[in-house]
Amino acid sequence: MTHTDVNQADVKQADVKQADANETAAKTSGRRALIVVDVQRDFCEGGSLAVAGGRAVASRISELLAGQHGYSRVVATRDHHIDPGGHFSDNPDFVDSWPRHCVVGTPGAEFTEELTFDDFDAIFDKGEYTAAYSGFEGAEGDGTGLRQWLAGAGVTTVEICGIATDHCVRATALDAVKAGLDTTVLVDLTAAVDPSSISETLDELAAAGVSFRGRLPG
Ligand SMILES: [Zn+2]
Repeated sequence: MTHTDVNQADVKQADVKQADANETAAKTSGRRALIVVDVQRDFCEGGSLAVAGGRAVASRISELLAGQHGYSRVVATRDHHIDPGGHFSDNPDFVDSWPRHCVVGTPGAEFTEELTFDDFDAIFDKGEYTAAYSGFEGAEGDGTGLRQWLAGAGVTTVEICGIATDHCVRATALDAVKAGLDTTVLVDLTAAVDPSSISETLDELAAAGVSFRGRLPG
């Protein structure tokens, strides 16, 4: 056996070991999904219900997903309104009623252009005829809800990012915990409507069993 043969054998052995490691990793951590909540034009600067920092959040999410992100599934939710009743108001209180936003078929309902990732495994639309803050109220085109879809994909752990921390991210995280999922909010990949009350929101989520990573920008 020449030195070259030995080296090739070593390399092959290493390849096999790496493949085994990859398979093991897929079995143990392959059920982690990222949920990207409502990163739509109307929720970003220049939109009808602009959240400060929305575009920057979209850029950071794009950076995360441009590399080897390690999620077995990446899904998105969209606010998708047709006629959501009192969710829209000409005199909104910015708690329960809001300016018109994310109306189906309008540019404001589209993902903001800073979200360059376009390979979502599924997109869940919510709120056609009623307010819907949680992504778990949404459904894919064929009617499959987020909870059912994640269960079907074997997902047991979710990480959540997007807009807004204190509304749709919050509601999605609370429902994720209720669905029995190990839930983490990626705080630095979110933007809040009301940054002054964010610590209350995070306290509420922590009490419900949500974990956090990162810190609020700004
Ligand atoms: Zn809405």
